[in-house]
Amino acid sequence: MSEDTVGELHVSYAEYAIGFDSFLYLKTTKPVHETLTLAALVAAGYPIPNNIAYNSSPPQVWEIFRGNIWNDDPKCSLFDDTPSGNNTFSKGVEWATDYGKAKLFKSSRGRGGTITGRSHFGDLQFFHSMSCIVGEPAEETRDKILLWCEVMYKIAIGEGISGKEQIDDVDVTRGDGGKWRINYWFGGDTDPEGNKTVEYLLTRGTPYRDVNIRHRALGSLLHVIQDSYAKGHTRRSGVSNEGGYLHLGPIKTFHCYHGQNEHAHTEFDTFDTDNIQVSNLENFNPFWGARSAIDACTRIIKLWMSGTKWGEQNGPLSVLEEVFTLAEDVTAGDNDI
Ligand SMILES: [Zn+2]
Repeated sequence: MSEDTVGELHVSYAEYAIGFDSFLYLKTTKPVHETLTLAALVAAGYPIPNNIAYNSSPPQVWEIFRGNIWNDDPKCSLFDDTPSGNNTFSKGVEWATDYGKAKLFKSSRGRGGTITGRSHFGDLQFFHSMSCIVGEPAEETRDKILLWCEVMYKIAIGEGISGKEQIDDVDVTRGDGGKWRINYWFGGDTDPEGNKTVEYLLTRGTPYRDVNIRHRALGSLLHVIQDSYAKGHTRRSGVSNEGGYLHLGPIKTFHCYHGQNEHAHTEFDTFDTDNIQVSNLENFNPFWGARSAIDACTRIIKLWMSGTKWGEQNGPLSVLEEVFTLAEDVTAGDNDI
């Protein structure tokens, strides 16, 4: 079923897609992530018009979108950047090939896995607030997610990471004994390799002359938060219907994409972003998780705008620890929906 009733409330399980227009391989998809991001930017007081829409967003907002899209397109292969343009779609052939191969053969490091395949079906699924394999302990998934969030946030405000460092040299750790560092996932056998810069990881050496690494990093962080409220990515408990929308609570399970029921996924409703006014948050009420996602993103964007450091009291770390709170009855990763 593509919807559920929680108390008196009917909510649709919408797919959190990214916008893409293509005549080849891929159908046109609605810019759900980008629309959630715009709503959070407006709600946070970021200086853009209230009536802004996806199609009217200026280049600096597109730099945030490009980071927001990056988790789905970490090779930046859905775009044909030029020195003056950052929002022209490519034909999508390379992306579709990488995705299709990974879907068929699974995709992990060291077996010819591309970063696109690894992100969707392999060991980088934490880019989407998902478990990397069935049975992964939720605490481990959460550690990987918070590691990524910390690196992205610190780049986004310039807190000790500029983007010019090699991936190998990013000294942010998480987990017992500092087990997780981002160079855990990048080395001589991956593309990009661990000795490439963080900027290269996020932008793939784009020729776009006004590239903004801080905006891209913020966008990637927002993607992780948004996905964490999507049906199909996590199982969360609904905590209240206050204000006419569903407030989602702690995470019970992180799902794993590989092996999930494709049919159930395609039953998800299209989130028709064309009919949404981003300044009217009530427009998002019918969609599972959307209001909670916007609320969390708004809090992070406000902290980003004020340059609040990662570990400050009531700062981004505490917001994200709340977003990724695990339920008491938490279970290991599965491929249910
Ligand atoms: Zn995602």
